[in-house]
Amino acid sequence: MSNQCQYCSKKIPISKVFCSKECKENYFEKAIINIPKPFVKKLYYFCSDEEKEREISDFCKRHNWKEKLVKEKIEDIYLKQFKCG
Ligand SMILES: [Zn+2]
Repeated sequence: MSNQCQYCSKKIPISKVFCSKECKENYFEKAIINIPKPFVKKLYYFCSDEEKEREISDFCKRHNWKEKLVKEKIEDIYLKQFKCG
């Protein structure tokens, strides 16, 4: 029997929820990151790759969030809201 890490989906013992302290921190930090849908739309439809990078980096600095997590969340929202359906 095994569990999956709630953050990275790695197989872990059933007694654990996360594979590492880092995954635990990332999971909870990612959970509080709030990205407005119009911002995601703007990034994907109205920005070049360079502008997109700059917008994301400014956004992260403004809120003091990890860029890696913000990017993951932006992609989640994009796939869920704009790609399908
Ligand atoms: Zn993990």
